[in-house]
Amino acid sequence: MTAQEKNLLPDLQTSAELLRMAIPLMREHGVPITPQNYSVWFHYVSGDKPKLTAHMEQILNDGVAFTEQLNESLYEKHLSEHNLEKVDEIRQQVLATLQETSASLSHTGTEAETYGKTLEVFDETCHNAESLGDVYGLMKSVLAETRRMKASVDQIQRDFAVKSAEMEQLREELEHARQMASIDALTGLVNRGAFFDALEEKIECIESVEDTPLCVVMIDIDHFKKVNDNFGHLVGDKVIRFVAKTLQQSIKGLDTAARYGGEEFALVLPETPAEGAVILCNRIRERISGTNLVRAGTRIPLGQITVSAGVAEYRPGEDMMELVRRADEALYQSKRQGRNQVQAAA
Ligand code: GH3
Ligand code: MG
Ligand code: MG
Repeated sequence: MTAQEKNLLPDLQTSAELLRMAIPLMREHGVPITPQNYSVWFHYVSGDKPKLTAHMEQILNDGVAFTEQLNESLYEKHLSEHNLEKVDEIRQQVLATLQETSASLSHTGTEAETYGKTLEVFDETCHNAESLGDVYGLMKSVLAETRRMKASVDQIQRDFAVKSAEMEQLREELEHARQMASIDALTGLVNRGAFFDALEEKIECIESVEDTPLCVVMIDIDHFKKVNDNFGHLVGDKVIRFVAKTLQQSIKGLDTAARYGGEEFALVLPETPAEGAVILCNRIRERISGTNLVRAGTRIPLGQITVSAGVAEYRPGEDMMELVRRADEALYQSKRQGRNQVQAAA
């Protein structure tokens, strides 16, 4: 937490009032009082995060149930810190560089002002000079002042070159930190937060620019616990990576494949109607079930790996969370009906 953010925290009495407001509301909506859920509702009643407040109000207006998944995604979307420490560190460095640069600039300001005044005095003195010797003396002084000014400007130019290289390096680090904050370390796919960002952006685009079909897909590995139980977590992780790679290789340009959580994945498929998404998901499903995975070294087969998927097509004006909920519901229909299949939401 930055010092600035610390100052923004409410005092003890305000915190207590917010607590008295948040807890009954959470109870009323059946939200378990976990630290994550509490911080979502705390910020909601305090109103200090406008995007979170708007999102919560929409959910409350629509009367959507606060499921475990919705609670988790609210936290993930609005409050999870991602890689903020690194971003904060870079921000401090940028500030320091800016301060040094501005000190350097005001130094040139003073030097230039002195130089200008000296020239004015010389100008006046020159008019009143009575001998060549006087003018020669003046010229020598002007030359000395000019050299001093030039040295100062040269130094500042060198300082600026260094500062500009530092700024460029910081910009690159910031960009890298920003990217790392949205990448899932195990699979290299984007994480849940970035999935919601991508989905939000695509929905905004449909609402404001171009009305094209868009699908969300939820995918879950079938009986994954058995893989972990039979072969251990490390092999389980490799299976997760295999599914992630298959997803990434099966999608095209505008699509996003994300690791939504444990062994669950999500796709955002712009410009794709439900029928197209079902065809794509069946292709993915067949690629996965048709691959015979074996243990490295021993070559012992892991047995068939299958996935189930649920597809939901965006309805104009629909809330993003409702769209995801419908895709999830379709996924659970696939599970109920025997797994290794794709269902589209009604
Ligand atoms: P279902 O067909 O109903 O989806 O059955 P399932 O066994 O896949 O059920 P469930 O979703 O409840 O279990 C998922 C398991 O995935 C639970 C957890 O131990 C495991 N898991 C979650 N994340 C990871 C991970 O990062 N690595 C490994 N190896 N296992 C994980
Ligand atoms: Mg599963
Ligand atoms: Mg699961």
